Amino acid sequence: MGYERKGIAAMHGYVPGKQPVSPDVIKLNTNENPYPPSPAVMQAIHAVPPEALRKYPSPAADGFRSTAAKLHGVTMENVVATNGGDELLRMAIATFVEPGQPIGTIEPSYSLYPVLAEAHGSRVFHLDLEEDFSVPEGAAAKMNEAGVNLLFIVCPHAPSGQLTSVPQLAAIARDFKGVVLVDEAYVDFVDPALAHDAVELVREHDNVLLLRTLSKGYSLAGLRFGYGLGAASLIEPMLWKTRDSYNVDALAQAAATAALEDRAYSVDTWKRVRAERVRLREALMELGFRVHPSQSNFLLAHVPAGARARAMRDGLETQGLLVRYFDAPRIDDALRITVGTPEQNDKLLAALRVILAAV
Ligand SMILES: *Cc1c(COP(=O)(O)O)cnc(C)c1O
Repeated sequence: MGYERKGIAAMHGYVPGKQPVSPDVIKLNTNENPYPPSPAVMQAIHAVPPEALRKYPSPAADGFRSTAAKLHGVTMENVVATNGGDELLRMAIATFVEPGQPIGTIEPSYSLYPVLAEAHGSRVFHLDLEEDFSVPEGAAAKMNEAGVNLLFIVCPHAPSGQLTSVPQLAAIARDFKGVVLVDEAYVDFVDPALAHDAVELVREHDNVLLLRTLSKGYSLAGLRFGYGLGAASLIEPMLWKTRDSYNVDALAQAAATAALEDRAYSVDTWKRVRAERVRLREALMELGFRVHPSQSNFLLAHVPAGARARAMRDGLETQGLLVRYFDAPRIDDALRITVGTPEQNDKLLAALRVILAAV
């Protein structure tokens, strides 16, 4: 036994996807954008003067918050900048969940939620998604009954990619008595034809907190930058109480602001990812996979009859292709595959054809 609290000693940590050192490995396992970040991001980092590193940065990242507020048609008071979207999850728990009070999830879902709950000394109260992975009717009422004050909903859903509509989210926000954190880590990849915009919920409901990240859409997973959008009353305690004193550094603030200002560059990468999402899904279905319709930059593909998902993941890895496998109920017969560049996707499909021919 070490010196840590009992709850920490007993918990299992988060298991991240592999990050191999070799640049030859094709990484379709952690949902990074396959295209590089905007050149404006690198210019902004180079342009940071030494003086900006000698001094402390803007504590609440005011420049970034102002840019994000303009982008979303809200005010700075509706925005909190965080060290990756994951920090917003931790801050929301610290702000809205009494230690010991349950945290609500709808499973399967992001595997970090239960880890953060445990670290807080809370358990997870979970409901199951419907057969088709949609959010069940009456979820809010059941969460209320269980005494949940913070409910996590991933939209588009991970790991299936399925979208919950804004009216559905609004109904949950109306019926739920606590805070609904809508984890929009992948929202940038939603087809614009669907006109999906959850920011309107922030204006109409004081209990909706949206999570955004620059990790996926803006090709900046290494930067660690995300933000929360919510009513000023929801954001205020996170901004001035539970946030680390200088939670986002000067370089990251400059880079993240430049990324949003040159959003047009990233919009083009989203379009390319969407085109490949359609092509890759069709090709996988032709190979016999059952693939959920996805509005994110990954596909959840249930392997064909007779094949084993875990073995297939291992077989791909020996060929230098990484995909994600989850040993969890309802998804342990599936691979979660990040949509890559056309060349990367072709290599994946060729490797899968070889593996399936041997099954
Ligand atoms: C990637 C991801 C996040 C946030 O990741 P950060 O890199 O910390 O911004 C949040 N939720 C889900 C479901 C994700 O996949």
